[in-house]
Amino acid sequence: MAGSDRCLFCRIAHGEIPAKKVYEDADVVAFHDINPQAPTHVLVIPRKHIPSLDDMSEADAATVGTALVRLAQIARDLHLNSDGYRAVVNHGEAAGQTVFHVHFHLLGGRNFGWPPG
Ligand code: AMP
Ligand code: ZN
Repeated sequence: MAGSDRCLFCRIAHGEIPAKKVYEDADVVAFHDINPQAPTHVLVIPRKHIPSLDDMSEADAATVGTALVRLAQIARDLHLNSDGYRAVVNHGEAAGQTVFHVHFHLLGGRNFGWPPG
């Protein structure tokens, strides 16, 4: 897993840094955001270290797609699906990306405005 030694989310995925995990399997880890922006705010990450959406290759399609499929299952497990939830990926500075390991934000438990801020 190249380039991942000092990556915060790789370290969480490896269990080197504690997190409130809600789900994990061979490909995907999900844990509560440390600074929640909604009553439920879970981060869903592929175990593979991909710094950003802009770093994805065609070979990453299944990896990232699997993370999104898991997100939808986690949303069902947390009963967010009937009222609705938001799934977000930030890319780059202007969008507020702060951790450079691809992650989906799963936000639920309140209403969300559109367009997003
Ligand atoms: P982004 O700004 O899209 O890169 O999202 C990074 C997210 O990671 C932010 O919502 C942070 O609150 C969250 N975060 C940072 N450090 C931790 C941590 N140690 N455990 C859980 N979430 C974290
Ligand atoms: Zn990483």
